[in-house]
Amino acid sequence: MRLVALLAVLLIVTACSASAAPTARPRGTTVPPPELAPVGPMTLAEAGVVPAWMDRTRDPCNDFYTFACGGFSKTAEIPADRSSWGAIQIVNLRNEELLRDVLETAASRPQQDPNLEKLGAYYAACMDEPAIEKAGIAPIQPLLDTIAAVTDGKSAAQAVIALHQAAIFPFFAIGPQQDFADATKVIASIDQAGLGLPDRKYYLESSGSLMRTRQAYLAHVQRMFALLGKSAAEAQTAAASTLRIETALARVQQSDVVRRDPRSVYHRVDREGLERKVAPTFPWSEYFSKLGIPGVTAITVNDVGYYGAVTRMLDTEPAAALRDYLTWQVLRESANELGKVWVEEVHTMSRELSGLKELPPRWRRCVHRVDDGLGELLGRSYVRARFSSDAKARATELAASVIGAMRANLESLAWMDEPTRVEAKRKLDKLAYLIGFPETWRQYDFAVTRASFAANVHASTRWELARRLGKIGKPVDRGEWQMTPPTVNAYYDPTLNLVALPAGQLQAPFFDAAFHPAVNFGSTGGGTIGHEITHGFDDEGSQFDGDGNLRDWWTAATKAKFTAATTCIVDQYAKYEVVPGVKLDGRLTAGENIADNGGVKIAFAAYQRWKAQQTVAPQADVEGLTDDQLYFVSYAQSWCEKVTTERLETMAHSNPHAPPMWRVNGVVVNQPGFHAAFGCKRGVPMNPANLCTVW
Ligand SMILES: [Zn+2]
Repeated sequence: MRLVALLAVLLIVTACSASAAPTARPRGTTVPPPELAPVGPMTLAEAGVVPAWMDRTRDPCNDFYTFACGGFSKTAEIPADRSSWGAIQIVNLRNEELLRDVLETAASRPQQDPNLEKLGAYYAACMDEPAIEKAGIAPIQPLLDTIAAVTDGKSAAQAVIALHQAAIFPFFAIGPQQDFADATKVIASIDQAGLGLPDRKYYLESSGSLMRTRQAYLAHVQRMFALLGKSAAEAQTAAASTLRIETALARVQQSDVVRRDPRSVYHRVDREGLERKVAPTFPWSEYFSKLGIPGVTAITVNDVGYYGAVTRMLDTEPAAALRDYLTWQVLRESANELGKVWVEEVHTMSRELSGLKELPPRWRRCVHRVDDGLGELLGRSYVRARFSSDAKARATELAASVIGAMRANLESLAWMDEPTRVEAKRKLDKLAYLIGFPETWRQYDFAVTRASFAANVHASTRWELARRLGKIGKPVDRGEWQMTPPTVNAYYDPTLNLVALPAGQLQAPFFDAAFHPAVNFGSTGGGTIGHEITHGFDDEGSQFDGDGNLRDWWTAATKAKFTAATTCIVDQYAKYEVVPGVKLDGRLTAGENIADNGGVKIAFAAYQRWKAQQTVAPQADVEGLTDDQLYFVSYAQSWCEKVTTERLETMAHSNPHAPPMWRVNGVVVNQPGFHAAFGCKRGVPMNPANLCTVW
């Protein structure tokens, strides 16, 4: 939870749950470079798709998702302790099991190697439930005592500072950010924060289950206060005050759609503006001193008006209500570090929002806690076990190939005029990528103990906050990773103009040199690399130039055409009904949908270019599928996934990604390459009269 809070001020990095082509293959054998890859007859399973996941009785031109994933949908069941099950989760489970082995071995006895000892101690303390029970609420007592001393706006500000020092962020959050106007500099970014529900609309709207979820949240907050020892009446009052304050905050916070525009969230007010105009009554000098950045002057805020509203709340809300709200922030951020009753109470909200029927087993939660606290230490073991230099070389080749196709695509786009095309190519040429794992591993120089889980969490959380704030005023580190190596995901950062592909994403069954090349191009080339590159040119990323500066490099005429093409995508996806009565938000998901569409189109072109260069063509028929068909099936199978109704609805309200089936069907409807590969005639469901193409 806290990690999420820390990341809240990373305004615009786009992470993109990724893809898979799911057949386990023997590891450890040396594989030939792609041009020498086996071309003899391979089966579908050897090629890297799962035949049983398909339903070949279905017409691919009618519903391609069901053609590629219908077999999976019929037989797969979501485990009770998960909210979805599919290709990504299957790989996640394998990663979790490997890391569990590493950690249990390290935890079993004191280790000579200080790094292993640190990992083992962190995990052992997390698994030591009797010690956690025995500690009770002692780990949060100092913060609760600080909050208990709140009697007015002034003392409330003191409590806010104390919570921020612990990386708990009521009202707003702080972090480092590359200056949008000068990407060589790191400045301080202050951003809205402090809501317990996934999005402001949970407080303000009532479509779908929003009202029911709001009621469930109120009851949950009340039960949490009761666990703290309040009487039923006191807990009811505290929950009502909390919800009232969060609702007031939600009213003055920016929506996620507004926040997609970088110009809406970037306001360089600097120290002087913050102290004199934006929120003059807040003790900023003390705040920055206590956070260890007393001299900070370069500051952006997401919204100039918001902070005046916050300080007015501090000054006018009854002290008791402020105490309740601040206490709630501590409880919701810390409950998972406390005993069983707390963890089980938190789970009631996971059930409501994600459909999780059971708590994940303790070991799995602890693996993730170590990944949160010591990610790059744990990641080293993962990389040693699962990532070869060969995989890195191959992913680099594939990335170069997709970038080459993107460049050729830019050359030929009819809607783009010459001045904009020159700028676009310049941006693409400056694109950087990180592959696999960091060149320099992070050193976690804080003490870890086997005696107290909460102490470890507090130490790592404070250390991470100091590390992040320490970047302000220093040169940008272009080699820094924002995901840990086992993560099955990838991201694009527009202020760095950089794509990062963690090792977790670049391994069998996602990606393997022994797979049919069309499969690697479809799942990893299209679904991951092409997708991330396209983020540099989506509705948000396109506002930054190749150096990561927020600069309009578009001519007005070309911009108008780009906006029209984007609107086509927005309208297309806004028609999809996710759960009865709740449609997808076309504007919220526009960037991801543009990236999905662009990625699949560009990597398909990259595959065609690659194929034309080969002296020996790859196998053209794999159990009745052509290689071009294989490309699209492998992309689709990376999204074979069952999702609970609760999570689907939460996604529709708050997630910038479309649910899995629309990441397949929403994309192929727009792809002439798909229509040709499967012979889908104009007018069938997967080849509608009106196609949307941005890139
Ligand atoms: Zn994405």
